[in-house]
Amino acid sequence: MMAAMNQNSLRGMLKVNESMSRYTSWRVGGVADQMYTPADAEDLADFLQSLPENEPLFWLGLGSNLLVRDAGIRGTVISLKGSLAEMNRLDDFRIEAGAGTSCAKLARFCSKNNLIGGEFFAGIPGLLGGALAMNAGAFGGETWGYVESVVTVNRNGLLNTRQAKEFKTAYRSVNGPQEEWFVSAVLKFDMGDGVKAAEQIRTLLDKRAQTQPTGLPSCGSVFRNPQDDYAARLIESSNLKGFKIGGAVVSEKHANFIINTGDARAQDIEALIYYVQQQVKEQQGIELRTEVKIVGESK
Ligand SMILES: Cc1cc2nc3c(=O)[nH]c(=O)nc-3n(C[C@H](O)[C@H](O)[C@H](O)COP(=O)(O)OP(=O)(O)OC[C@H]3O[C@@H](n4cnc5c(N)ncnc54)[C@H](O)[C@@H]3O)c2cc1C
Repeated sequence: MMAAMNQNSLRGMLKVNESMSRYTSWRVGGVADQMYTPADAEDLADFLQSLPENEPLFWLGLGSNLLVRDAGIRGTVISLKGSLAEMNRLDDFRIEAGAGTSCAKLARFCSKNNLIGGEFFAGIPGLLGGALAMNAGAFGGETWGYVESVVTVNRNGLLNTRQAKEFKTAYRSVNGPQEEWFVSAVLKFDMGDGVKAAEQIRTLLDKRAQTQPTGLPSCGSVFRNPQDDYAARLIESSNLKGFKIGGAVVSEKHANFIINTGDARAQDIEALIYYVQQQVKEQQGIELRTEVKIVGESK
């Protein structure tokens, strides 16, 4: 349900009781109490200031790494889809991009501007804010390898510029100041041949299409790769390809993907995640940790 949002000069879009299944790549998830899409960074700051002090907040990108449970999210979801998506070239090497920029657009912007290094972003089906939060990466590249600084906002709407060194980052892990969320980033690349970069993007996307069930509702890799091994290999060796709970199934094409076959509930996917973890532990002696974030309330 949509509510007009012009009280108190706010310019964004407020929706109440909005189903999260429309905003997650698994296509599951119950309703959020309310969801706000800011008009711009200033409007975002104003909206945050207008919230009660203890309002629970959840930040949403494209929901491509999220399992939202069936009873949804209490409090306010801030959605950056279609917002904060400006991109500017600052100088020979640096780009400033809003947290709502899609990673695919960022990759194309780099190649068009003869900047290299950012090709891997092409295959990440999320927004820059989500990539910063996850340290998303592929084919040897990682988001924070290219971050010079970020602008964050806190729950009081205060904007802060922070240098990359204020964040401790590792494989799919980012630790920085608590209760601050990403608004934009300055990224630094190398100058190079944009035509070659565009070719490289096509090659990477082809490789993905060959090895991953792209186009089906999933969240990409469900589990992190353990040190010196692959979650997919461990799951396949445990004979779990094709294993199904309700409408959720372990992909036959890539064992680290769980697919919603059409009528899955978040509950089915979560049960399958725990089943896979338990089987891999029992059969291979390795504890898989989830890469996807599991949030919200159970029914
Ligand atoms: C088919 C497929 C392939 C994939 N391949 C890859 C891959 O190769 N490599 C890889 O790393 N990932 C991959 N993923 C996972 C996913 O795309 C990435 O983790 C991506 O970075 C998530 O971005 P998002 O915008 O969808 O974030 P969301 O899923 O919406 O959110 C992810 C997390 O980031 C937080 N967050 C979102 N925005 C902000 C913000 N502005 N500030 C602070 N926190 C925020 C959320 O609260 C949540 O905790 C894949 C997913 C799919 C579906």
